[in-house]
Amino acid sequence: MSMKTSENEKRAGSPAAKPTAEAAPGSTERPLRVAVIGSGPAGVYAADILTKSEEVRNGLQVSIDLFDRYPAPYGLIRYGVAPDHPRIKGIVNALHKVLDRGDIRFFGNVNVGTDITLAELKTYYDAVIFATGAVNDADLNIPGIELEGSFGGADFVSWYDGHPDVPREWPLEAKEIAVIGNGNVALDVARMLSKHADDLLVTEIPDNVYRGLKSSPVTDVHIFGRRGPAQVKFTPLELRELSHSKDVDIVLYPEDFVFDAASDEAIRTNNQVRTMVNTLTNWLVEQDDDVTPARTPASRRLHLHFLHSPVEITGTDGKVSGIKFELTELDGTGRARGTGEMVHYPVQAVYRSVGYFGSAPGDVEFDHQRGVVLNDGGRVLAADGTPVPGIYATGWIKRGPVGLIGHTKGDALETVTYLLQDLAQLPAAANPDPDAVVGLLASRGIHYTGWEGWLELDSHERVLGAAASAHGGVQRERVKVVSRTDMLTAARGANARV
Ligand code: NAP
Repeated sequence: MSMKTSENEKRAGSPAAKPTAEAAPGSTERPLRVAVIGSGPAGVYAADILTKSEEVRNGLQVSIDLFDRYPAPYGLIRYGVAPDHPRIKGIVNALHKVLDRGDIRFFGNVNVGTDITLAELKTYYDAVIFATGAVNDADLNIPGIELEGSFGGADFVSWYDGHPDVPREWPLEAKEIAVIGNGNVALDVARMLSKHADDLLVTEIPDNVYRGLKSSPVTDVHIFGRRGPAQVKFTPLELRELSHSKDVDIVLYPEDFVFDAASDEAIRTNNQVRTMVNTLTNWLVEQDDDVTPARTPASRRLHLHFLHSPVEITGTDGKVSGIKFELTELDGTGRARGTGEMVHYPVQAVYRSVGYFGSAPGDVEFDHQRGVVLNDGGRVLAADGTPVPGIYATGWIKRGPVGLIGHTKGDALETVTYLLQDLAQLPAAANPDPDAVVGLLASRGIHYTGWEGWLELDSHERVLGAAASAHGGVQRERVKVVSRTDMLTAARGANARV
């Protein structure tokens, strides 16, 4: 079967005559060939910015192929943003418009590194941009982290977002849960753990996730930050949203509301910090004096603790049975130091949300301390610090897992600017024919989804959503397909070879 012949070729804008290696990349005889690895916001923004660059407006021809290891595009938006965040999920609409224009080819379900190597890509493309993100949990090296019931927050996110490579079942047996970290991922994890499953039915959560959450016996989720309320890394909107979950009470502790000189300064000068400290303080003031479970009206509680630094996860018979913290105090600069006083909380599960960490995409130098590809402003560097010609990075794999999705636009602009500055020095691809990479994937039996394949899968998920709406009485825009095989089968109608 000839896969994606017409569609992806049409998208590549492949000229009638085969482009030759001799012609200058970007000339009218042959476009500049660029491979972008990763179709999350970072990759799509880079591709979009390149197509709209001044150089392109002035006649530079470009032909961009976007690769993703998953059959569906959108990376972190599909597999990292919580399902009850439709506003952020809505960024998909902007990314869709870019990819639907027809000038960028999409190759989903292609793993760069195994299905096709970087060396091979370099024979087909003049430049390669890594936009592979950071998807793993940062480590938390405390005793007991390996116990059954101790989880990485990012893994849980992957589960509730229906990631194809994560087991379908998630053990949700704990009544009391600790979430470590005061960033937005900790908020997502704690909110998803504490929310009632029926309140998530309006979202795109897969059926297995609904069933798992529905069976959860959870009553109390505790979020622990190692510093104070003025040092949280949440953002105001996400924090306020915590109070919107039905039948979930927020519980705060007055002794945790400690502010040092640096806190006061941050509250005075930083709107976000001020807003969040006000939100937290208002919740504290409004809550009843007695917040013991028997006295709170809701059936579930979400506790926010500050000045708690995790020391050890304790276990019984190999399973989590509690967590020990050292209480901390602020040192005047906003940092925390231990007080020597220990506290223990009985919990049956611990989720660490202490940041994401990038993984080495292979064949490029990797900074194992920071979890990023070694780079200077997006130019990938060799071990000796010199730029590797034609190889670039953008997004979280370039600068680490910080910042909101919109921040990756600035990143992409910087990377693309360097790429265009380097135009004359790019190592021209030996085989710039856009058909060549299609031929290689076909010869290897790689079952990739093209853009049309994704559109098929997309519409299949919407049909599932409509069916679930008719059946369950709750309006659902889509229901996500989880397994890779099912995704490829749904995409097959167009062009995936299964
Ligand atoms: P993050 O914002 O960097 O937060 C990490 C948290 O973990 C911090 O509170 C940090 O405390 C704490 N931490 C680190 N090491 C620790 C340790 N050893 N013990 C105890 N606590 C520790 O990371 P994130 O939550 O993974 O978020 C990553 C990025 O994605 C952020 O930019 C975030 O805003 C973004 N994001 C946004 C949304 C949204 O907009 N809705 C949703 C999810 C993620 P310290 O501050 O003391 O280091």
